[in-house]
Amino acid sequence: MPEAITPDEHRARILARIEPLPARSTPLLDALGLVCVEDVRAAVSLPRFDNSGMDGYAVRRAEVAGADDRAPVTLPVAGEIGAGQAGLQQLPVGAAAKIMTGAPVPAGADAVVPYEWTDRGAERVVITRAPDDGQHIRGAGEDLTAGELVVAAGTVLGPRHLGLLASVGVAQVQVRPRPRVVVVSTGSELRAPGEDLAPDSIYDGNSFLLAAAALRAGARVDRVGIVADSAQEFLEVLRDRLAEADLVVTSGGVSQGDFDIVKAALRPEGVWFGPVAMQPGKPQGFGMLTGAGGEVPVVTLPGNPVSSYVSFHVFVLPALRRRMGLAPEVPPTLRARLATGLTSPAGKQQYLRGRYDAAAGRVTPVGGAGSHLIGGLARSDCLLVLPPGTTALEAGAEVEITLLDGAQW
Ligand code: AMP
Ligand code: MG
Repeated sequence: MPEAITPDEHRARILARIEPLPARSTPLLDALGLVCVEDVRAAVSLPRFDNSGMDGYAVRRAEVAGADDRAPVTLPVAGEIGAGQAGLQQLPVGAAAKIMTGAPVPAGADAVVPYEWTDRGAERVVITRAPDDGQHIRGAGEDLTAGELVVAAGTVLGPRHLGLLASVGVAQVQVRPRPRVVVVSTGSELRAPGEDLAPDSIYDGNSFLLAAAALRAGARVDRVGIVADSAQEFLEVLRDRLAEADLVVTSGGVSQGDFDIVKAALRPEGVWFGPVAMQPGKPQGFGMLTGAGGEVPVVTLPGNPVSSYVSFHVFVLPALRRRMGLAPEVPPTLRARLATGLTSPAGKQQYLRGRYDAAAGRVTPVGGAGSHLIGGLARSDCLLVLPPGTTALEAGAEVEITLLDGAQW
């Protein structure tokens, strides 16, 4: 049995082999959550032109100065200007123009009188209150001017960035793409949800657990599903998919059992297998496989569902984030106080499931330590990270936790 490496060492070895994906031009909506690699400048100013902030009448302020209820000013209405229907471009002297919100203010006008201060007349309008200079006019370029930087290289594009890019007419952006992740569950005992179970079979939870975690991380997923415990079949499935993959994640078949076929299949291909000093998630594997498109990282996770998921969080999530150019790569940790005391085995980094109460800064362990307890995993929202030296902690002790599913980013 080789000597165990630490989780940090294993992750460092994985990250050392992983490069960010080259950026490509991507339609806006597909770029949500991705890293923009270019400085994008506005091709147009915002607002593009002086436009009305209200439905009302464009006027020359001097011509309505002093208007009030006792001395209203009446002006002929020279025309009507709707958004996208800018008929009237010049306001005749001594007249008002009906104008709608967002419509271009005609030359000569220097204020808009809202409907509320008028009789809403069609031929002639009675104005009972005078606007201030420029009132209800949204000036061209007051938000940003053409040529200005709207998104800086390195920005993770959120809904507001995409809205702004669209607003300045940008249809495509250069972003690091979603990594294509192939997810394979191995095990002859596995059946897909919805299928009939034999007395010795169980449902494949892992391919869904891992595929969903990869999707949540921002990846595209090819969920292969179940491959039986046959090294040959497993290799064939992998070879088929490698050309289309930026990362492969497998579950099961990596420990000391007679049917641990992932190990049997990939060890001859140069993939490293060995113990990592953590619980759950001790048996791990990592290597590079060569497909038609080049080398593809393969992370082989243990089959117990909690082991698989914890390993994903600790090793695969940082790898995907590096692929995407996202920082931080490693899920951040925070400190919380234990709601109850606990014990932990010495010599291994322990990842217990917990529920975090942010307001109280408190964490409550959920379920037991068993790596098959997916019910407890689903009820948890964080992992407690207990270092190898920790064997017992009392209620109130401070522990390190990491929030699950990227909730903190
Ligand atoms: P293995 O790592 O293949 O030895 O599997 C360890 C344990 O996890 C066994 O009890 C398996 O039945 C279980 N297991 C493996 N893969 C899955 C899966 N995809 N879904 C649920 N349980 C699994
Ligand atoms: Mg198995």
